[in-house]
Amino acid sequence: GDVVGAKKLTDGIHLVVDALKLNEVDAIYGVVGIPITDLARLAQASGIRFIGFRHESAAGHAAAAAGFLTKKPGICLTVSAPGFLNGLVALANATVNCFPMVQISGSSERHLVDLQRGDYEEMDQLAAARQFAKAAYRVHRAEDIGRGVARAIRTAVSGRPGGVYLDIPAAVLGEVIDADLGAASLWRVVDPAPRQVPEPAALDRAIELLASAQRPLVVLGKGAAYAQADDQIRQFVELTGVPYLPMSMAKGLLPDDHAQSVASARSLALRRADVVMLVGARLNWLLGHGDAPQWNSDAKFIQVDIASTELDSNQPIAAPLVGDVGSVMQALIERTGPGQIAVPAQWRDELSARSAENVGKMARRLKAAETAHPMKFLGGLQAIRDVLRENPQAYVVNEGANALDLARNTIGMQVPRHRLDSGTWGVMGIGMGYAIAAAVETGEPVVAIEGDSAFGFSGMEIETICRYNLPVVTVVLNNSGVYRGDAVSTSGDPAPTALRARHDLMIAAFGGRGYRATTPVEVAAALREALTLRQPALIDCVIDPADGTESGNIAHLNPKGITVQR
Ligand code: ADP
Repeated sequence: GDVVGAKKLTDGIHLVVDALKLNEVDAIYGVVGIPITDLARLAQASGIRFIGFRHESAAGHAAAAAGFLTKKPGICLTVSAPGFLNGLVALANATVNCFPMVQISGSSERHLVDLQRGDYEEMDQLAAARQFAKAAYRVHRAEDIGRGVARAIRTAVSGRPGGVYLDIPAAVLGEVIDADLGAASLWRVVDPAPRQVPEPAALDRAIELLASAQRPLVVLGKGAAYAQADDQIRQFVELTGVPYLPMSMAKGLLPDDHAQSVASARSLALRRADVVMLVGARLNWLLGHGDAPQWNSDAKFIQVDIASTELDSNQPIAAPLVGDVGSVMQALIERTGPGQIAVPAQWRDELSARSAENVGKMARRLKAAETAHPMKFLGGLQAIRDVLRENPQAYVVNEGANALDLARNTIGMQVPRHRLDSGTWGVMGIGMGYAIAAAVETGEPVVAIEGDSAFGFSGMEIETICRYNLPVVTVVLNNSGVYRGDAVSTSGDPAPTALRARHDLMIAAFGGRGYRATTPVEVAAALREALTLRQPALIDCVIDPADGTESGNIAHLNPKGITVQR
């Protein structure tokens, strides 16, 4: 701080940076502007990495992905009103996905905002954020900045992780206070996400239920991936021999080619299982709410979750296990007697017969796609799959409709937490933000597999990728439309679902490498080269406009009503 007379001074901006550093924040994702530009400068000068984006939603999505990957809240920095609102989309999405993040936003002067006098970027941001975040706090005095940061971090990571909003008005950022008092006002959060173990009786109830099952099933969700309890999960699954189903972001927790994976007999597993153990997975729409006929109406559920209020949200939970995945799985391993849980051979045989059948069907589709021209989604995707097999450490980001459904099923994951996708909302727009965070947080290469529509929501961030020279290869599966590119327009304008772009030319404008691929062989060659170079690249894959289904796997969610002309 500055010295005036004998007194050392500091200010709100310095205190924010000092508080973040004290809590081991090493990266901030944001967009600068009034009143936070100096905060970004100071953070960078103090050794925190500042990644400057082109749009706050992408910055926020990056912070959320950083939270998922590291178990520490990702930090997003936004300006007032519109910047704040852009970031809020990501904060809400992070909260829905149970990813820890903190959005710190500058805001306009309280005395003007609260009387609605019409200030520059006037908005009651705290009130707006509250309903979309796990919590929202505002700091009114520089001496409370340390408290505000500590509270935001604690709230974001403890219990069910989520997004926290921290409002810091411009006046507080500029407030000057005594440096010693300032330093004394900061603290470091101790044990931000304490372990939590259920009581022995709850564990035994779950073990006995699983042991009584004829057709047991474990479902692993992204909460299990988040927990970083990979060894305990693997040990429990292998010790008991229970078949398991990974939700999309839990893929790789055990390698996708694991003998107990029933991913390729998913619908049979859900319909027939009599005891289901949910581990960090919610019975939400992605699992049909646990309802018949998708599920066996007599199925009994065991649920491992940190959030007690999640239990009984959709189906009765016969054996609740409230705690963190790591501690619960460890306790289950310790309390399960040798041979106590055994899986009837009949169930295993039923599942593997169906798996073999489905794998066979898929193999025929993949074979046909290999040589199809124009290229099909599955043609491009199996080329990507083959190159990714050679690069198991690469992170995969995936969004779109068909691009999401087909990539999820085609591309196996070998390592935990290497797949980031549309998540709980099934949202579009996370692509480049997630990709940037994966590259920044891990230093590993990232392959973002994007539908052409999905890519558009964050496409300008390829400039960010190029500016920071990140090893991100974006693969756009370009069928020239939302869902499909062959819709016939009923007016002089393009059809509502139509798109048209040469994305490979776009990245060239920012100094990245653009490729255009029209065959699977070209896709593989381009991806291999791009991964070897470890430089920003984009591969525009020309996909048959007639390939793709409306809304992908979730077409049933479209309202029916009277017929709309397609
Ligand atoms: P998926 O979409 O993969 O099925 P969800 O996001 O629906 O997964 O579920 C994740 C669940 O994991 C949430 O209910 C959340 O409360 C829970 N969760 C998150 N972190 C932990 C943890 N460390 N231990 C236990 N449960 C967790």
